[in-house]
Amino acid sequence: MPEIRQNLVTREWVIISTDRAKRPDVYIESHKKTTSQLSPPHDERCPFCVGNEELDLEVARIPLIGDWQTRVVLNRYPALSPEGEVIRTMSGVVRKISGVGQHEVLVEHPIHNTTLSLMSVQDIARVLTMCYDRGWAIRKDIRIEQIIYFKNHGERAGASLKHPHSQIIGLPVVPHSIRRRIDEMRRFFDDTGQCVMCSMLDKELNERKRIVSESEHFVAFVLYAAPTPFHTWIVPRQHNVSYLYSSPQELNDLAGIVRDVLRRLYFGLNDPDYNLIIRTAPVKELSNDYMHWYATVVPRLSRTAGFELGSGMFINPALPEESAEYLRTVKI
Ligand SMILES: [Zn+2]
Ligand SMILES: [Zn+2]
Repeated sequence: MPEIRQNLVTREWVIISTDRAKRPDVYIESHKKTTSQLSPPHDERCPFCVGNEELDLEVARIPLIGDWQTRVVLNRYPALSPEGEVIRTMSGVVRKISGVGQHEVLVEHPIHNTTLSLMSVQDIARVLTMCYDRGWAIRKDIRIEQIIYFKNHGERAGASLKHPHSQIIGLPVVPHSIRRRIDEMRRFFDDTGQCVMCSMLDKELNERKRIVSESEHFVAFVLYAAPTPFHTWIVPRQHNVSYLYSSPQELNDLAGIVRDVLRRLYFGLNDPDYNLIIRTAPVKELSNDYMHWYATVVPRLSRTAGFELGSGMFINPALPEESAEYLRTVKI
C-alpha cells in the first residue's frame, strides 16, 4: 500500500509509492547531452563570457585585480526595481506593495560550458562566499525582508542562459512559503522545546537510510517525505538560524558537500536539470531558537500536473530510501 508521508517543516503531505516504486536507474537521463557537450568553452554571444562583461552592471568580483573568477552583476532585466520606496496599499480586497528589490546574477566561473559538478571545491567555495558577501551587502538595504539564493541548471529548471550562474533576489516581503516554514518550525519548538531540523537530523543520522553524503559540518539526505525523486536537503549539523552566520570554514566545507551531492547526480543520472536553493531566515529575524537554515537540491525529473495543482500534494514514484542508496553508491 502507498504511504502518505508528511514533511514536518512544510507540513506538506506526499504520496510515496512504497510498493510500486520505480527503480532509481529509470531516472538516468540517458539521451541527454551534458552541459559541456552542448556548448563550447567560450561563446562570443554570451553576456557572461570573458570579453563581454557589462561593467556598468557589475557590483562585485573576485579577485578585485586581474582576471576575474567569479563576479556579480545587476540583472539587466530585473524582476524588481532597485529604485523606489516600499509603499503598501490595502483597501478592501486589494493589497499590494511597490515592486522594489534587488536582483543580481552571480556568474560562477569564466568558462562557458562548465557546471558546479565539474568545478573544484575552491571554485564552489568562491561562489558560496560571494553569496554570503552579497547577502550581507543586500541586508543593509532596509527595504529588504528576505533574500533568496538560487540556481537553475538546465531548461527544465528554468535556466535560459547556459553560462554557469546563480541568482540572488532581495524581496520587500517574506514570501508565504517561507513564512509557513517558519510558523511550522516555531510550532514544533513550542510543542517540544526542540528545533525540528535538529530533530530530523538526529533521526536521519540514527537510521542512516536516507543519507547521501556527510562532511564535518553538514549532512545531505533525501527527504523522508521527498515530494519529487532525489529531493535532497543539505543541513548544517550545528543549529544555525541563517546562512549569513556561517563561518569561512563552514562555507569551505559546504562547497565540498555541495560538489559531492551534485557529482552524484551528474554521474548517477547523467547531468539532470536541477534547482539549488538556500533557504535561510528573513534578514530581520536573525535571532531565534527554532529556525535552522538549509540548502535544497531538487532534480527536475518529473513534471507537475493537475493533481499537484489541485491538492498541493505530490506523488513521488521513487522511494526516498532507494534514491538515497543509489546516490550513495554512485562512483564520483
Ligand atoms: Zn558564457
Ligand atoms: Zn536546529
